Amino acid sequence: MQTGLNMSKSDSGLILSGSRISPREAALIERLKTLKMKSGSHSPSMTSIQEQIPEIEVKIDACFLSNPYATDLFMDFFQREVIATGRFRSLIECYPSQNRVISELLAPCLNTSAENIFIGNGAIEIIQAVVHRFAGKRMLVNLPTFSSYYEFATESMEVMFNVLDKEDNFRLDLQACLKKIRDERIDSVVLINPNNPDGSYLRQKDVRDFVRELKHLKSVIIDESFIHFAAEDDSFELKSTVALVNECPNLAVIKSMSKDFGIAGLRAGYAVMSADRVRALLSNGYLWNSSGLSEYFFRLYVRPDFRAEYEKVRVRYIKETQGFLETLKSIPGMRVYPSQANFVLAELLSGECSDDFVNRLLVTHGVYVRTCSDKIGLKGQFIRVASRNWKENEGIIAGLRYCLEQ
Ligand SMILES: *Cc1c(COP(=O)(O)O)cnc(C)c1O
Repeated sequence: MQTGLNMSKSDSGLILSGSRISPREAALIERLKTLKMKSGSHSPSMTSIQEQIPEIEVKIDACFLSNPYATDLFMDFFQREVIATGRFRSLIECYPSQNRVISELLAPCLNTSAENIFIGNGAIEIIQAVVHRFAGKRMLVNLPTFSSYYEFATESMEVMFNVLDKEDNFRLDLQACLKKIRDERIDSVVLINPNNPDGSYLRQKDVRDFVRELKHLKSVIIDESFIHFAAEDDSFELKSTVALVNECPNLAVIKSMSKDFGIAGLRAGYAVMSADRVRALLSNGYLWNSSGLSEYFFRLYVRPDFRAEYEKVRVRYIKETQGFLETLKSIPGMRVYPSQANFVLAELLSGECSDDFVNRLLVTHGVYVRTCSDKIGLKGQFIRVASRNWKENEGIIAGLRYCLEQ
């Protein structure tokens, strides 16, 4: 982007030549930068941007990683069964069921027994519990990653990093990883599949082989929060390594419901792990860590009528996301990495700093994508773009095209 201040006259008024940024937009970008500086290491949320700089209209939030069609589906059921019937009051007024009761409910759907299931107030609560209690001293985390895994490590722990290579599309080389685990006397390893923020995916067979090689570790943590979006073939069959917990008691499979069911505000997640571990956690608390709303969601989740409807919106969204990804790949000026999740990681090739690019896209098009400047292990200028509904995806594509053209 050219930043020279040669002013020229155009139909839309004064523009900075070459950059297609109006003085008004340039002023808004300056205010965004100040806001970002004040908000520390994390990007300001869409809400705080709208509060602090109301002149910026955020039209499409492409930071947020969820299936919007699943949220629509949930709202349909919720409206009919909870709002219209007045049942909402009892969800607020009464205690929800205890952790064990919800595990019993989920067990048949997860093909495991209730004693192996732990319900969390979002997956984040489970990540904290598992990392604190079962990860041992030396924990290996692949980079880039979802930051909570290393942020929640206790002071007595050592987090070791396995940096994935962008030249290899952030593919995790499982053999090399096994070697690292041996050489560095690792106690536990975290594997997010598909990975956040790059979307790289490991096939189920390879993951199973990997886990079976690691029975001697204290813990193998597999985070399947985006697994509903992964498709190994055209059958779109749902994958999971949950079944392996019986054979490998050191395995903990963690699952957020926030992204694939579009219900982050409800706070619902679960983990499947050894019965001993579930017991150890429950004897320490977590009795009513669900809410009336998340319990309603879990009760819906196990119902055949909801599951049938959900399956339709899941497959529709995967297909649309695959099309979105293909289109993004065709836009010059950025390199898009392969993804089996509902987002893509893209590297800007112009040399423009990703924070500046994100601000420019937001101010000129109201499209908010996530800068990855705070992600450790990413060398270069990266943004992460979420797939939204098809209409919003068209807006995202138009905005990216425009901002990458200069
Ligand atoms: C978002 C996310 C979580 C946390 O999900 P919540 O259920 O909302 O707490 C966990 N793991 C990964 C990889 C995520 O992206």
